[in-house]
Order: sequence, then structure tokens, then C-alpha cells
Amino acid sequence: MVTMSTTAAKRGDAPARPEREALEQVRVTEVFHSLQGEGRTAGWPTVFVRLTGCPLRCTYCDTAYAFHGGEPVTVAEVVERASGYGARYATVTGGEPMAQRHCPGLLAALADAGYEVSLETSGALDLSAVDPRVVKVMDLKTPGSGECHRNRYENIDLLGPRDQVKLVIRDRADYDWARGIVARYRLDARCEVLLSPSHGELAPGTLGDWILADRLPVRLQIQLHKYLWGDVPGR
Ligand code: SF4
Repeated sequence: MVTMSTTAAKRGDAPARPEREALEQVRVTEVFHSLQGEGRTAGWPTVFVRLTGCPLRCTYCDTAYAFHGGEPVTVAEVVERASGYGARYATVTGGEPMAQRHCPGLLAALADAGYEVSLETSGALDLSAVDPRVVKVMDLKTPGSGECHRNRYENIDLLGPRDQVKLVIRDRADYDWARGIVARYRLDARCEVLLSPSHGELAPGTLGDWILADRLPVRLQIQLHKYLWGDVPGR
């Protein structure tokens, strides 16, 4: 576990920044080990830290159990729990992790601990405090989510080639909207663009046909973990 350096503690000094951050608390729903189901590292063993709470209410949300509850845990303790799995990748997810004040500190601490860290976020909140070592996997909410008005388009300027934008597609109307957004913001020139069929609502093959017909410069992804284990918590 990370603790304040003995020297600093003996002197009574204020702890240095990483030490201070290690003592800050986040509210955690679960820390678990699974295969990454989405994005560029799909299939890799990954430790997931699911933070509690989300200000959005997407129609297709599969993690409503993370809206409430959880337990307060210091950043140092989260890093300690994560280390038990020996994973190379760490993903901070939610809920909406950036709704917690100390999420940026947690991301930095995991990167300091040597993980390749990614952040799964709705993109509804400001991402400018995210450590540059962290890969941002940012949703743009489609009309079918019911939360399209929450998109913070300024975040697009913060995305680079290592980052990913994800759009969950429920139907043809969502697809047409996504196609327009990709073109308007030239998203494919900025980062990887992932189109994900809403599980159980849109057949992946149908979405694949639409992408090919339009020669859309995006990547189709399915949620691998749901095909392996079903839609269950902790997977
Ligand atoms: S942003 Fe994510 S966690 Fe929040 S309601 Fe939407 S799908 Fe669920």
C-alpha cells in the first residue's frame, strides 16, 4: 500500500502530490479481473475499477447497479487491490467515473504503478484533467440513448490518435446520426471511431452491412464479454 513517506510524516510536512492523491478517496462499486470486452485492447486480461454514480440515465444502460452504493476507498487501496491480479491493463469505468472529483488522481496513480490505463467515460463532463498517459474511450451519446443533449463536444478537441470515440447504435436513426457526427467533426482523422450495436437491440451484422455500404471509416465492435459470459456484473 502507498503511504506518506516516513521522512515527510516525521517532519510533519504536507505530503507531496502523489502521496496526497494516494490518500484521497473514491467511491468504488467493484474491482474485478476480466477480459477487456471493447476497444483496441479487446481480449486482453484487464483489471477494472468501477466507480460508483452517474448523472446520466441512458436507455440501454447495463450498469445501473453502479448508480448507488459502493464503498469509499483510498486511491492507494484501489491500486493495492488491483495489483493482486497481475494485469498489464487497467480500465477505470462506471457509472461515470469523471463525476468523482478524485478520478483523475486515481488514473494517474494507476499509470504511475505501471499499468496501461484507459478511462471509459460518457464524455458528458470535462476531460481536461485526465493524465495524458491515459487512453480516453469516450462515448458520444446517440439520440436513442435519451442523453444525446449531454454530449460535451468540446472534449473532442482533447482526443488524440491513441484515444477512441464510441457510439452505441440502437437503430438506423442512430446510425444516420453517427455518420453525420463522424463527418462533421472529422472524427476518423482524430482518433479511432468505434460503432457498437446496442446489445440485444441491433444485430451486429446489420450494423456491419450499413458500415460497408457507406464505406464508413469506423470500426465495428461487439461487447466481447457479453458473448463470453452474458450480461452480468463483474465481467
Ligand atoms: S453514461 Fe454509462 S453508466 Fe451512465 S447511464 Fe449511460 S450507459 Fe449507464
